Amino acid sequence: MTKPDIAPPPLRNDCFALPAGVNWTPVEDALSLLRDRLTVVAGVETVPLAQATGRILAQEVIAQRSNPPQPNTAVDGYGFAGAAPDGPQVMPLHPGRAAAGIPFDGLVPAGHALRVLTGAALPAGVDTVILEEDVTVQDGHIAFHGPLKRGANTRKAGEDVAEGDAVLPAGRRLTPADLALLSATGLAEVPVRKVLRVAVLSTGDELVEPGESAGPGQIYDANRPMLLSLLERMGFEAVDMDRVPDDREALRTCLNQAAERTDVILTSGGASAGDEDHVSALLRQAGAMQEWRIALKPGRPLALGMWDGTPVFGLPGNPVAALVCTLIFARPALGLMAGEGWLEPQGFDLPAAFEKRKKPGRREYLRARMRDGRVEVFASEGSGRISGLSWAEGLVEIEDGARHIQPGDLVRFIPYGSFGL
Ligand code: AMP
Ligand code: MG
Repeated sequence: MTKPDIAPPPLRNDCFALPAGVNWTPVEDALSLLRDRLTVVAGVETVPLAQATGRILAQEVIAQRSNPPQPNTAVDGYGFAGAAPDGPQVMPLHPGRAAAGIPFDGLVPAGHALRVLTGAALPAGVDTVILEEDVTVQDGHIAFHGPLKRGANTRKAGEDVAEGDAVLPAGRRLTPADLALLSATGLAEVPVRKVLRVAVLSTGDELVEPGESAGPGQIYDANRPMLLSLLERMGFEAVDMDRVPDDREALRTCLNQAAERTDVILTSGGASAGDEDHVSALLRQAGAMQEWRIALKPGRPLALGMWDGTPVFGLPGNPVAALVCTLIFARPALGLMAGEGWLEPQGFDLPAAFEKRKKPGRREYLRARMRDGRVEVFASEGSGRISGLSWAEGLVEIEDGARHIQPGDLVRFIPYGSFGL
């Protein structure tokens, strides 16, 4: 067979363009845009404390009661009035005792001591406590060595929190420790944001469901289980909208349903400008599409659009890029819409256990983990390497400029935990 005489494409007009990435939207600009344009969409409801873990406070919370509510003893021992001077002290023991929840309601006479147990309200005539271990009790008296300062071993009313103080700010995602604080300061229920509902759908003719048989050319849908569980971990309600083939009408129907049921939509795949990139095509048709060419590796195409009033994050199809874009862009954006405010992930500067040369123009995120105080990165940077996502325990963030990292140089490590995972 004779080969047809087809010329290869001529040199491209942009063959002298800057290296890829240089004139793309820097990550910081993309983040600022999201931060400026998005607002809280979640409503408000009141929930009992027992159901409030992980929920986001809709208002600042004010202490209804001081903690501690009254002065009390921090130890088991003997209480009396005033400082004890240097040297041996002997005091008559007053009859009775004060225990947590069972106050002593008489007056302890000056110069006398009363048996007190941890947490007991200080009775009238007591402002100082000597530790039981430092005392000898004999013949109705106690003996110990001074000096002891006035107020020793006691807690003042409100020394932790005073009634009327603001205890937690609006936007706080409540932790188990917060529930202790709220309960201690007299709150039984709190105003919180309704949980943000986030739709997840995968696009691609090649995708099959785990458990189904996969033919040649087919792959199991890896993004959807990952994204659904990521969202749950981050404290959002993940709504599974299934897989959609590369078919514009099927995708339109799915987006319509998702927009009706949820506050935000995450899609994966089909977000670039190719023949089968229907997410970007549909959003463009709807006239509400911003295709962000973000100077980011991995994960350049991030399609952002509005579908029937609902924001859509068109994530890249490659699982590594889908995860990175979710952590870096979607998470703070979702947090903002959920009422949590804009969240900056906390990173740590740690010595690198690797070498890497990086060109300028793009910010990079490497799959990484910490071992023996140093940061290791996954052997391959390929954005389809799902095993590396699972191997990693966080990301290394390398700034937009050029960098030659050598072992021992400090690099920024952001543990997955800093993204709420
Ligand atoms: P796309 O962005 O649709 O061009 O997809 C980019 C790459 O990611 C292709 O190799 C897809 O097969 C792959 N991909 C897309 N969606 C998924 C998914 N849900 N799970 C695993 N791989 C995917
Ligand atoms: Mg695709």
